[in-house]
Amino acid sequence: MTTKLFYEYPVLTSCAARVISCEPAEGGFNIVLDRTVIFPEGGGQPADRGAVGGANVLDAQEKDGVVYHLCDKPLEAGSEAEVRLDFERRLDHSEQHTGEHILSGLAYKLFGAKNVGFHMAADYCTIDLDTYLGEDELALLEREANEAVRRDLPVTSENMDHERLAGITIRKKSEIVSDDIRVVYIGGGEIDSCTCCGTHCGSTGEVGYIRIGDSQKYKGGTRLWFSCGGRAVREANALLRSVTALARSYSTSREELPAAVRKQSEELSQAKRELKSRTQALCDMIAEANGDELAIEHAVGFSANDVKMLSETLISKHAKAALVFGSCGGQVFYRAARADGVKAPMNELIKAVNGLVCGKGGGSPAFAQGSAAGPLDPDTLETLRAFAVKWYNGGK
Ligand SMILES: [Zn+2]
Repeated sequence: MTTKLFYEYPVLTSCAARVISCEPAEGGFNIVLDRTVIFPEGGGQPADRGAVGGANVLDAQEKDGVVYHLCDKPLEAGSEAEVRLDFERRLDHSEQHTGEHILSGLAYKLFGAKNVGFHMAADYCTIDLDTYLGEDELALLEREANEAVRRDLPVTSENMDHERLAGITIRKKSEIVSDDIRVVYIGGGEIDSCTCCGTHCGSTGEVGYIRIGDSQKYKGGTRLWFSCGGRAVREANALLRSVTALARSYSTSREELPAAVRKQSEELSQAKRELKSRTQALCDMIAEANGDELAIEHAVGFSANDVKMLSETLISKHAKAALVFGSCGGQVFYRAARADGVKAPMNELIKAVNGLVCGKGGGSPAFAQGSAAGPLDPDTLETLRAFAVKWYNGGK
């Protein structure tokens, strides 16, 4: 068994230890010490980092009460070594973990929502609840969580055996085989109580700030993304800076920003509708003026969508088939389409056009399209026109 100093002294950042054993392992050397300040991965909390003597701790895992420190260098069994903890990383994990208890405990207390999953990553944390919580409920949960932080309630733990555990009522009892069970209480159980092997802050006040960033429906319940402590403050500051910059670019205040974005979005939709209607009017004019059975057109400023609109308009007026080119943004878009009853395979025509303009594209016998690097010079257009007419007439 390794003496786990991180439970009794959660803010201890170093200790002297004796090397019990050192064995080669995948990715380094597994070092066992008589005692340690390094928390091994468990309860959804990642393992600590740090150093043992001159070796860096890359990972730490626990098996049957023994902590295995995966290190990048071997150490001699029987030697003494100083164990040093990467405290910034630990503090971040303890803040997230304690915040998770506060949120899970309150979600259960306020809405009867049970925590069915917890994930802590380097840049995000999630809680899965078995109940769906809407925006208002999550806002209440966040408010109550920060109220618990403001009250600076104690975070305590109690070690017990199965018999004692069976006799108490707590929010969550994990399946633990050994008789060394640890129950963590937030506010003496008022906010939360559950079995847990992780590291925590000494009181809720040390968490500082709890932020619910996002949520979504998940397996009939809710997955919520949250952050706590320094992580939450950094995120909130970054968000505030982004929103302030965005508001400035809209020449408005942060408070008025949503309305300004909505207004611009409505104006954009209106402009798109107007542009489409004008492009359709232009297509109608071009199609009226073209009386050819195979209508060939080149329109400068036409995008792929505009080319589609013109080819369909040509077919709807006089043409039996249409080959339309559009030059836009340094590219050439082209599309071939035919009226009902026409046999000429448009994908064959586009295949030939691809070859003549070094483009790519394809489609079906009814219509096909492609694109190439622009611009389309008059000589190439004339070559394409002559080829298409010959091809169309030859196929009739
Ligand atoms: Zn915990």
